Amino acid sequence: MTEQPGPPEQCDLLIVGGCVLTVDVNRTIYSDGAIAISGNTIVAVGPTRTIEKAWTAARRIDAGGGVVHPGYIDGHYHAGLHLCRGSIPDAPGGGTGVFKRWINAITEEDEHASALLASAELARNGFTGFVDAGTSFYPDAIAAAVNAVGIRASLADCMLWDTVGMETLAGEVERAPNDRARCLRDLGGQLGRNKDAGARVRGHVALYGSGSGTDELMREAKALADREGVMYHQHQSLTKEEADYDRNRFGKPALVHYAEQGLIGENSAFTHMNVLDEAEVEAISASGMALVWHPGNFMYYGISQTGRSAFPDLHARGTSIAFGTDIAKAWAFGDLGIIAYLVSREWGQFLSSEAILEMFTHGGARAIGMPGELGAIEPGRRADIVIRSADHPDSQPGVDPVKQLALIARTRGVDTVLCDGEIIVRHGRLTRLDEEEIYRIARRSAEGTAERADLRPKSNWPRVT
Ligand SMILES: [Zn+2]
Repeated sequence: MTEQPGPPEQCDLLIVGGCVLTVDVNRTIYSDGAIAISGNTIVAVGPTRTIEKAWTAARRIDAGGGVVHPGYIDGHYHAGLHLCRGSIPDAPGGGTGVFKRWINAITEEDEHASALLASAELARNGFTGFVDAGTSFYPDAIAAAVNAVGIRASLADCMLWDTVGMETLAGEVERAPNDRARCLRDLGGQLGRNKDAGARVRGHVALYGSGSGTDELMREAKALADREGVMYHQHQSLTKEEADYDRNRFGKPALVHYAEQGLIGENSAFTHMNVLDEAEVEAISASGMALVWHPGNFMYYGISQTGRSAFPDLHARGTSIAFGTDIAKAWAFGDLGIIAYLVSREWGQFLSSEAILEMFTHGGARAIGMPGELGAIEPGRRADIVIRSADHPDSQPGVDPVKQLALIARTRGVDTVLCDGEIIVRHGRLTRLDEEEIYRIARRSAEGTAERADLRPKSNWPRVT
């Protein structure tokens, strides 16, 4: 005699008929899969026929055979600087000089406009969260914009630096003076956001990095992150010049020094890390620290000419890696997967499509400090979920949904996005805000900032207005 199943359980939302890439511990794919969601939490996932028997819901979304995956998380984004693209030059030689002018010209209203468009763009491209890079003068304005769109973010204090080092910017931002007393006063200023466990905008510890922090300041940052149980981020080893500078000041490679000094550990997530020697790769791997990778900048600044990327090796050693878009100035959100794949192939290395999706999901979840809650579709995790349309040619023939998504479809075809169980994108449009209004605010801000920074875009083609 077989046991009769009980009546179906009630949940809030059922997603059915999707090709569900769970990215769970076994990397299970349900070709015809379904997800049951209650409140902000995933309560069940499995074949549609099984889930439909066990669960009933007031609302139901048919994924129509499209790919369903965990929301992507960007591990490093300067949300307040999103609107500089098009105004800063795309030719060589721009560098930090133009960024300095832009940074010094932005207002609170500009940072809000910038984060509003960045958040909208992230959501529309299948991202449900990002780690702010800690360069906003008005974190509350960033938080308000992120909350308005409905995605997640983790914020940090603005440009904490107590030496200039190789980072010329560290002596040129009036509103963020190079001053240890200021840094110690501001450090951890965003952590109060974590008191609300349900908050989508949280806080972490960050220094600017890139040689602009002394060991003393780094020690304070690491100790605070340890005490508060949050992540500690900074820029590190972007270029060969920067790596050489640190090697000179420490008498050894930076990451070896940091490991010896106890300044890196499982709660550290450093961004860039383009120039690393073998001893540093060992130190990183042994420390258990996480990394945030920008293979686009690695090529854009010609860093790839100075040596191969250590990231494929670090991935093979099990280091947690997220992608971080930094500023979407010459690439869009989601482009870094294909760039990472090609950067790896250039040196005869290989980064699998599965690895790329793990970086967008698991790596991002680790970088934002929520590794057990985000990054996979399985019971108990937050319902941060993306549903792609199957009704576009880039998704076809889809015989290998992982390769198709990672390398071909990339961010195309995002139909529905859930954050915390809430539908924030439906049929490819934001549900909470009028996108036309966001674009109007963004255009006005970009034009105003460019005017004040004397960085008005110059058209190489005759432009009739
Ligand atoms: Zn950055």
